[in-house]
Amino acid sequence: MNSVTVRVPAKVNLQLAVGPLRDDGYHDLVNVFHAVSIFDEVTATAETGMSVRVEGESADQVPEDDDNLAIRAALALARHAGRSYGVNLIIRKAIPVAGGMAGGSADAAAALVACNELWGLGLPVEDLMEIAADLGSDVPFALLGGTAVGTGRGERLTPLEVGGRFHWVFALADGGLSTAKVYAECDRMREATGEEIAWPRAADPLLAALRRGDAKALGSELANDLQPAAVMLRRSLARTLEAGREQGAVGTLVSGSGPTCAFLAESEAHAGELALSLKAAGVARDVITAYGPVPGPTVV
Ligand code: ATP
Repeated sequence: MNSVTVRVPAKVNLQLAVGPLRDDGYHDLVNVFHAVSIFDEVTATAETGMSVRVEGESADQVPEDDDNLAIRAALALARHAGRSYGVNLIIRKAIPVAGGMAGGSADAAAALVACNELWGLGLPVEDLMEIAADLGSDVPFALLGGTAVGTGRGERLTPLEVGGRFHWVFALADGGLSTAKVYAECDRMREATGEEIAWPRAADPLLAALRRGDAKALGSELANDLQPAAVMLRRSLARTLEAGREQGAVGTLVSGSGPTCAFLAESEAHAGELALSLKAAGVARDVITAYGPVPGPTVV
């Protein structure tokens, strides 16, 4: 086999509960991850060295050297296998870069699946999960797909039962937000108010709404502890979120560390209407529709 192409989805966090800052600088999280139908594609082709090229949505903002998460994943897999394999990766991006939709983690997961196949390693998903956890806290979910609760730094995953398909509208912003800066702003805002930070746990009403496939109930339970910090760093997001509420979204939230905003619709038709209204309101660089949950990386 000379070449393998893998399609991998973006994620939105339906609940992102951030615990107190730990001594090691991390936070304990409860993350309800949901994979949605915005896909990057990674093609791995056998080669002697390691190289990567990025095309598509905001490709100029993605490194094409060893800092690229997909190349780091390929290197980690070769190390795990104890061999000096080579690969050329071509990443076609549709997932917004630094948009809070874990595009880099998705590409890393896709590279693990593609290289495992290309190099004929046949490693089980448990081995890929271990490598994924070392690469970053969102990479294990990117490998799993669907809908799942992540605890710890997000890497301990429990898949969730979902009783239907949810329809989403995403408002893409100009430029990204640094995840590290958003966490730092969250810590700063919490320290300033002196609020007591509760131990994070998944919200039962949210899990029940997912089980029933009930968009209205899910919409009222969407929650992101990073949202105030993301809005503080990018004030225009308050207007974007407000526009979604005004146009009848059943739920609104900043996706992960932002700046992408996610709006939940009641149906596919409603998502189409909502997308048109948000485009007309001029509150985003681009507006796209998607549905979830979708499976994780798939060889195409
Ligand atoms: P998260 O939601 O996991 O915090 P994000 O969606 O906000 O992540 P990414 O799109 O994953 O952000 O990109 C974060 C940074 O990682 C970017 O600044 C980008 O330059 C770098 N990066 C490295 N490799 C990739 C890749 N393959 N795709 C996208 N970004 C990458």
